[in-house]
Amino acid sequence: MRKKIVAGNWKMNKNLDEAKELIKGLKKEVKKLKLKDDTRVIIAPSFINLRAAVNRTKKSKIEVAAQNVHQEKRGAFTGEVSVDMLESVGVKTAILGHSERRTYFGETDELLAEKVNTVLGKGLEAIFCFGELLEDRKSNSHFKVVEDQIKKALFHLDKTSFTNVVLAYEPVWAIGTGETASPEQAQEMHAFIRNLFVKEYGEDVANSISILYGGSVKPNNAKEIFSKPDVDGGLIGGASLKVDDFTQIIKAI
Ligand code: 13P
Repeated sequence: MRKKIVAGNWKMNKNLDEAKELIKGLKKEVKKLKLKDDTRVIIAPSFINLRAAVNRTKKSKIEVAAQNVHQEKRGAFTGEVSVDMLESVGVKTAILGHSERRTYFGETDELLAEKVNTVLGKGLEAIFCFGELLEDRKSNSHFKVVEDQIKKALFHLDKTSFTNVVLAYEPVWAIGTGETASPEQAQEMHAFIRNLFVKEYGEDVANSISILYGGSVKPNNAKEIFSKPDVDGGLIGGASLKVDDFTQIIKAI
């Protein structure tokens, strides 16, 4: 069956000392939880702290992901990081298409399709993010928007590729706003997404792909959101920056 996943997207937070401190605390708590094999815990620090994070989580259940990666394998792309660089420091997963990358750095579905290919081509895993804006929901076009995002960035892939893809539905209006999608809204969208996969790739792929929810997940609402049948975990922003909060959310899975 598909894995349950709690992933922390640290965004542009935590310097090296702070990152080490947070990892130290998390390691201690995660160890106590004695998580089963079907549950994954992932943290995504900034590029500069990835190596330290990998080294410090080696003997723990915690996995380390990057928040982004460049689509080209190498070359004259000042300021960018390649999949080879990630792999060389032991990072096996990259978050792609986060709404902040789409909004502030102009990432398009077409570009994300390239990034997905580069990540999967290297044998790494992609946590692919997508989600509608508030105006999309208000105009009742949220299903169409999400369908387009998924189709344009992922539906050129073959069936087998999806063993290395995790989906993360993050309605933009719920990110960092304190406003969460209701558990019913999350379930409704997740079921819709899974059905897109049933139609395109069949039941096996659809039932084995983990779909995470992201957007103001906190210790006090995680359990209810995670209880929904098509919600396989969460991508957590603000609440992943504190040991206690993140641990509570992991417990809720
Ligand atoms: P918040 O949990 O801070 O709303 O952020 C969600 C998010 O963007 C995770 O990627």
